[in-house]
Amino acid sequence: MIVFSPHEHDARETRAALTPDSAKKLVDLGFEVRIETGLGLRSDHPDNQYVEAGATLSTDRSEALGAADFVLRVNKPPLAEVSQLKKGAMHVSFLDPFNDSELIKALAAAEVTAVSLEMIPRTTLAQKMDALSSQANLAGYEAVILAASRMNRILPMMMTPAGTLSPARFFIIGVGVAGLQAIATAKRLGARVEAFDTRPVVEEQVRSLGAKFVKIDLGETGQTDQGYAKELTPEQLELQRKGMAKVCAQSDVVITTAKLFGRKAPVIVTREMVAGMRYGSVIVDLAAESGGNVDGTVAGEEAVTENGVRILGLTNLEGRVPTHASQMLGANMSNFLEHFWNAKEKTFDFSLDDEILKGCVITHGGKIVHERFAPK
Ligand code: NAD
Repeated sequence: MIVFSPHEHDARETRAALTPDSAKKLVDLGFEVRIETGLGLRSDHPDNQYVEAGATLSTDRSEALGAADFVLRVNKPPLAEVSQLKKGAMHVSFLDPFNDSELIKALAAAEVTAVSLEMIPRTTLAQKMDALSSQANLAGYEAVILAASRMNRILPMMMTPAGTLSPARFFIIGVGVAGLQAIATAKRLGARVEAFDTRPVVEEQVRSLGAKFVKIDLGETGQTDQGYAKELTPEQLELQRKGMAKVCAQSDVVITTAKLFGRKAPVIVTREMVAGMRYGSVIVDLAAESGGNVDGTVAGEEAVTENGVRILGLTNLEGRVPTHASQMLGANMSNFLEHFWNAKEKTFDFSLDDEILKGCVITHGGKIVHERFAPK
């Protein structure tokens, strides 16, 4: 069975779907691993490290795509490359299935088994292959580092003969995987941290990290069976904004991570709330790619408002630490293949009755098989 990992289509992408370590794991399992020359250069893994791990280098992407039984990459494939994939091959990547139905149709038509990393169930069994979590964790860390680098102040309290510097105040809105890591990182750097999430179960997690949970009574909120937030009503959102305006105004940094799985992110921080913030404060909007939590966020850009608030809508924050992001992603990929690998027979045990595969396989056998995306 041949595994191939090609370059990313988006030249800005710094991560690789396989590292030398994850390639070695697959080689040891009995896969023949090929990578496109230069795959790991941006994540600090030169070709020779892959060769030492037992992989071979390919300079002919089209040939390698046509030969591979498994194609692993970070982001969705370009439409033009779908027809180059072998019939029956499995393609594993983030796929953006909610927004790219044309690609899904093409993958089905090419008889490719397309796995969407974002659809891997959030279960204990699937944790080792949960790429959404591994990457969100790093994005949460990087959001704090980015904010710290854009602020003109320090984070910890300092008592010096020249006076006392008060600790920076951070407000984290949305406490999923990224938010928890943002809290932990800001605390480690000495900031005072407050946080809010609509899922009540989060309060204890926030406290256990030494941060303060901001209490806002929104009435019934709750979460889905996958642990995702339910959408708030317009009235609840308004209550939330009111409850948060004061906290935002007192904060040096606001990090927003509030997402709704498969849907546009809610606008939580309005222009008025930004206008109420201090000159020189920083907002990092981690939901920028799915519409943004902040009115005024431009995805991929940094903006400064009239009142001197820096709004950072930079995307792919995990891509700013590509060595570790690729390490985690490569581990997620190799764990996924290993989980279904029958080492004796050297076959992949594929069944749509399996809970994990049922959750993340979008196309198979010429059809869109995932219930959320299949034509009704
Ligand atoms: P996400 O990226 O979809 O959303 C980030 C956070 O934003 C969530 O905590 C959500 O509740 C919050 N949010 C949504 N709307 C909001 C609003 N209006 N105001 C404030 N906050 C708002 O979430 P995620 O990080 O992918 O995590 C989703 C859930 O999955 C969490 O419960 C997490 O603990 C769980 N999870 C479980 C596993 C596992 O068991 N294997 C693995 C990973 C994540």
